[in-house]
Amino acid sequence: MMNRIVARNFGSNVYRLRIPWRPFSNDAASNLSSSNAGNPANEGEGQQYDIAIVGGGMVGLALACSLASRPLTKHLNVAIIDSNPALGRKHFIKKEDLPDPRVSTVTPATISFFKDIGAWQYVEQHRHAYFDKMQVWDYTGLGYTKYNARDANKEVLGCVVENKVLLSSLLSCVQDTDLQKKIYPSRLTSMSILPNSSSLEEDSTASETALFTYGRLAKLELEDGHSVYAKLVVGADGGKSRVRELAGFRTTGWNYSQNAIICTVEHAVENHCAWQRFLPAGPIALLPIGDKFSNIVWTMNPKESSEFKSMSEDDFLKAVNHALDYGYGPHPTSSLLGNTDIFSWFKGDITMSARDCFEVPPNVAKLASERMVFPLSLRHASDYASKRVVLIGDAAHTVHPLAGQGVNLGFGDASILSSIISEGIAVGTDIGEVSLLKKYEADRKPANVMMMAVLDGFQKAYSVDFGPLNILRAAAFHGAHYISPLKKSIISYASGEHRLPLFS
Ligand SMILES: Cc1cc2nc3c(=O)[nH]c(=O)nc-3n(C[C@H](O)[C@H](O)[C@H](O)COP(=O)(O)OP(=O)(O)OC[C@H]3O[C@@H](n4cnc5c(N)ncnc54)[C@H](O)[C@@H]3O)c2cc1C
Repeated sequence: MMNRIVARNFGSNVYRLRIPWRPFSNDAASNLSSSNAGNPANEGEGQQYDIAIVGGGMVGLALACSLASRPLTKHLNVAIIDSNPALGRKHFIKKEDLPDPRVSTVTPATISFFKDIGAWQYVEQHRHAYFDKMQVWDYTGLGYTKYNARDANKEVLGCVVENKVLLSSLLSCVQDTDLQKKIYPSRLTSMSILPNSSSLEEDSTASETALFTYGRLAKLELEDGHSVYAKLVVGADGGKSRVRELAGFRTTGWNYSQNAIICTVEHAVENHCAWQRFLPAGPIALLPIGDKFSNIVWTMNPKESSEFKSMSEDDFLKAVNHALDYGYGPHPTSSLLGNTDIFSWFKGDITMSARDCFEVPPNVAKLASERMVFPLSLRHASDYASKRVVLIGDAAHTVHPLAGQGVNLGFGDASILSSIISEGIAVGTDIGEVSLLKKYEADRKPANVMMMAVLDGFQKAYSVDFGPLNILRAAAFHGAHYISPLKKSIISYASGEHRLPLFS
């Protein structure tokens, strides 16, 4: 009965939107992309879509998959605009390839989201590494924390996946759905949105130009000369978002005077744990990536990063092993102040991992990829939504990678935005209406801002070498190591469950 009501509402709502419906098949799309490249005149005035997703990165494609997985949004007509050539190929991963240095640690919440939208089955066909243990410590030797998924009744703490595997999985997922989509292998150059005019008569045959003139569609101009019209433009175009700039959204933030150097390394044995050590200039993380490979994400000042990028492979490996072992300071002991364990009063309720001793990460034997350097910044858009425009992923927020949360926040945005669009369709709202899009902003902004504040706080707390602060940091390590409710809260917050870290 319920299904029938929804189906009836959906039918009448499509009619009420009064926007001509012109689906495009996949084949037509790819033919058009290749045969008309550089010859937009063949396309007439421009093509019309329900949604134009600008940026076919991990977050933009996750939105497309999420829309394709919902009963009320799976029939939408979607344009994906991105010049990344990988989007033009169905299978761009070869089994024999060594792991790409660009990886993401995805949280259990992201894994559930991928399962819901049908994308995880594609990830599982490629290399990926679940991990259920993590060790965090710092160079002072004053403390360490061990996390185990079982501390919070979970099976895993996360999974490390190459970005190209995530992208290719999302692409396969979207290609295998009925969503009416077309990929434009180009870049957005300009965007125009006119104010709503009430003088437009309800007319299902109105041209896209008329609908644009009356404020019912946004108009996008692409670098290759194509024009695209859409009821809703989604900016999923990364940290330097052109959509954000064209829509006039202000941003706040700063550049950290830090770069991250990343690469793939090989061990003699398999690594099953995620390791992170805070050094004076920034953290170094060693993340399992499957087989005998791990990924290094090492944050340091820009001068050091150019030295570490250009030094010989042998010297670099020595530096990595030094940084993950005795370099910069001693191994931590298992108590804060000598043998006096100030948390002994709390040990009635300790987690399983609180009994685990400090371990030295597996030795790194070989460099297995090029070294890449990324400058790090924090940036946040003051608004995520305005009329016919909405931002998701790094276009809305860029965070420090020290806790591997950036793209996970973006997947959270994609999930909520598709659900809000679905709600809008269910009640017959224009999906470009600002009041609808502000519901998405109201949901996501507090969660993103909280995570940004936590990560920025960590970044700052761990970049100062000052005696009393070192003791406080050690106390924090011990608190997180021994106090069971605190440890469970940290694990569940880092897993993507939207609860504040300390007060849940
Ligand atoms: C060193 C490092 C390590 C990281 N590790 C992790 C991690 O472990 N876990 C995690 O969650 N996050 C991590 N992140 C963050 C993560 O990589 C980003 O949050 C993620 O890539 C953002 O995805 P996105 O799709 O929003 O943007 P992007 O990946 O930047 O994709 C944007 C897309 O938009 C396209 N585009 C840009 N401009 C235009 C235009 N004008 N027109 C059309 N298309 C356009 C681009 O071609 C691109 O494909 C890390 C980041 C760094 C730097």
